[in-house]
Amino acid sequence: MSFSRRGLPVICVAALFAILTSWAACACSAQSAPSPVTATAATTNPAQPASSQAYSLPPGKLAQAITLSRISLALEVIGSLWSLAFLWILLASRWAAHLATWSERLLSRRWMQGLLFFAAFFVISTLASLPLDVAGHLVSRHYGISVLGWAGWLGDHAKGLGITLLLGPPLLLFFNWIVRVSPRRYWLWIWLVSLPLIVLSAFAEPLIEPIFNQYEPLAKNHPVLVARLEQVVARTGTKIAPNRMFLMKASIKSNGLNAYVTGIGATKRFVLWDTATDRLPDDEILFIFGHENGHYVLNHIPKELAGMAAGLFFVFWASAAFAGALARRFGTRWQLDEATPLSSRPGFLVLVFAFSLAGVILQPAGNTFSRHFEHEADIYGQEAIHGLVTDPQKTVVSAFNHLGEAWLEDPNPSPFVEFWSYSHPSVQHRAGFAAHYDPWAGGGQGRFFEK
Ligand SMILES: [Zn+2]
Repeated sequence: MSFSRRGLPVICVAALFAILTSWAACACSAQSAPSPVTATAATTNPAQPASSQAYSLPPGKLAQAITLSRISLALEVIGSLWSLAFLWILLASRWAAHLATWSERLLSRRWMQGLLFFAAFFVISTLASLPLDVAGHLVSRHYGISVLGWAGWLGDHAKGLGITLLLGPPLLLFFNWIVRVSPRRYWLWIWLVSLPLIVLSAFAEPLIEPIFNQYEPLAKNHPVLVARLEQVVARTGTKIAPNRMFLMKASIKSNGLNAYVTGIGATKRFVLWDTATDRLPDDEILFIFGHENGHYVLNHIPKELAGMAAGLFFVFWASAAFAGALARRFGTRWQLDEATPLSSRPGFLVLVFAFSLAGVILQPAGNTFSRHFEHEADIYGQEAIHGLVTDPQKTVVSAFNHLGEAWLEDPNPSPFVEFWSYSHPSVQHRAGFAAHYDPWAGGGQGRFFEK
């Protein structure tokens, strides 16, 4: 639940959910997202079209933003297709089968063979995606968004791989074992097991993040800002104590602006990037904080987890059926075990392929769900600063312009691209909505606040 569409490449729970992450964002809701501009049409002026000027860039930056958005989209599409092609090649070339034979020759115990097989799989996958990751970082540095040197970048990747190797192989081995002991209903058991794991990963995320980034209490160097944020806390009743507010030293890695809420229960916290405290007026940070408060008050994290759980039930069922069909069709050619093809080590990768495919197909559903929450949080944030800043509309529009410029967001993305790959409404939609949102004008009241 971040404020911006992009974040630092934190691979925090990649390990625990090496498989899950590929479709973790699916969350599959049938709910269709209201258009960010017209969702609360009652409070906007229907005669006024979505403002095309609410978010704008100077000409030089506009050209850069358009090119960057095209390159990012191309990298994203290629990345998705490559992750599927890679798994297919691994199976069709029988490398997966050879890898299993190799691990069996090297080690005697079955569980150790499994650990070695899955560890090798993670290393090969990481190497296979490295060229695209490098390209992404090159582009980000070229456009001045990332300021992270190659040594630091490699260090982050190495840490990510380390965590993956620590948690990923045991998890896949466990799932693989479930397929073996319950060849018919395994998808249901894996789904049940993944439920506590999803909650655990949400809880553990803030504990893993410090491996990649430095944090300090926000009050340490920004006591005046914290005092103002407490005014928002008082208005929203969120009970986010100052010791749950953190400053992340993002500026050593990025020029982007961001803030996010993370964790649940005892690990719940608000994190603000130092790029934001350095470059944004306090009023705008108040809005961003209000937005993040909205995620809490409106229970977006539990709702997202519940949506994910419901979606995964369907995804596991469908993936199992599809993987079964693939195994029947290609099992002999891919040298899978004949009796129970999916429970063999290479056979398990057929399941991984089916899960990954579901992830790609369901990406727009997850993003639609997410954009809906983000829009709600935007409304909440703008209402939360009513009375605390002089002009909420102006403050919010300015915040979105700063955000868009920092990330070089395309002011006019294609609606299809926004639908498919944006986890947040486009900056243009967000700023356009904010510019016309004033529920109190004419004696009305807000959606979340009476006054
Ligand atoms: Zn958000």
